[in-house]
Amino acid sequence: LENQAQILSGLANKKDIAFNFQSDSKQDFLAQGDKVKINQIFLNLVGNAIKFTPEKGKVDVSVGLEQISGDAYFINCKIIDTGIGISDEHLEKLSEPFYQIDSSATRNYQGTGLGLAIAKKLIELLGGDLVISSEKGIGSVFEFSVLVKKVEKDSLKIDKKELSWAEVKEMGETHPLKILLTEDNDLNLQLMKLMLNQLGFQYEVARNGEEAVEKVKEQDFDIVLMDVQMPIMNGLEATDEIRKLPKKRDLVIIGLSANVFDEDQMKAIESGMDDYLTKPIRLAVLAERLEHYYKKIIEKRKK
Ligand code: ADP
Repeated sequence: LENQAQILSGLANKKDIAFNFQSDSKQDFLAQGDKVKINQIFLNLVGNAIKFTPEKGKVDVSVGLEQISGDAYFINCKIIDTGIGISDEHLEKLSEPFYQIDSSATRNYQGTGLGLAIAKKLIELLGGDLVISSEKGIGSVFEFSVLVKKVEKDSLKIDKKELSWAEVKEMGETHPLKILLTEDNDLNLQLMKLMLNQLGFQYEVARNGEEAVEKVKEQDFDIVLMDVQMPIMNGLEATDEIRKLPKKRDLVIIGLSANVFDEDQMKAIESGMDDYLTKPIRLAVLAERLEHYYKKIIEKRKK
């Protein structure tokens, strides 16, 4: 990104725009991610900031890393400009394809109105979010995050067999895991099914904690995805029940909850859950966690 910024700063110079790039990442941090797509997003958003900022303005770009869990990290990028800004009414529609604020033939800025829509889609595809805030005549702030995976430098040499994204996607086929999805809410259930289907996993569904406990008694699952808030028996109680069953102490249980407070996470772990994901569950985060436990389960099977 720093290289890209260098190129973009040339563009900014031509317009006499003060361009500043800052990175807080530690030097020896090595990340695995989709370089081409991340570059495309960066180029588009920083390019826009320069394009829509008049001469003698300012564009500040900063990037940083944020750990999510284990070796999953977000690259966070913030682009601040003192450009023409965007009014509230336009802001809502901005990431729609072909949307341009000034589509008149005399508009000052050339473009297609596709860049932002594509950038937004790519960001979502990479497990992140795009947040735009702006004030007309003052300037704009574009913030995006994309998911990457931390790679140990040594592991690059020794363990070349790091799973690639494509491999993770085919994981469900190549190494089937038996997953029990426990979710009472219809919409959330649909979303989770979509994601598991996309990752190619086989799964069964339970609609509340009681059903989950029954299914776990009947069949051998590798992983239980357990909604925390459910009627009849909630996810914490169900986890507690499952842990009391013979031979179910090692069953991987991952909680799914809308609560983001540490306290709730503590409760989940106390009830005997192995892990905890906060809603909205992102495809990339889910894949990363499943991959993590998949490796553990395979290692155990080998022993
Ligand atoms: P274009 O090809 O027109 O640049 P984009 O999809 O990249 O298309 O952007 C869509 C519209 O959003 C632009 O035409 C512009 O009106 C507005 N826009 C994008 N970025 C900025 C920005 N940093 N400041 C002000 N307006 C912006």
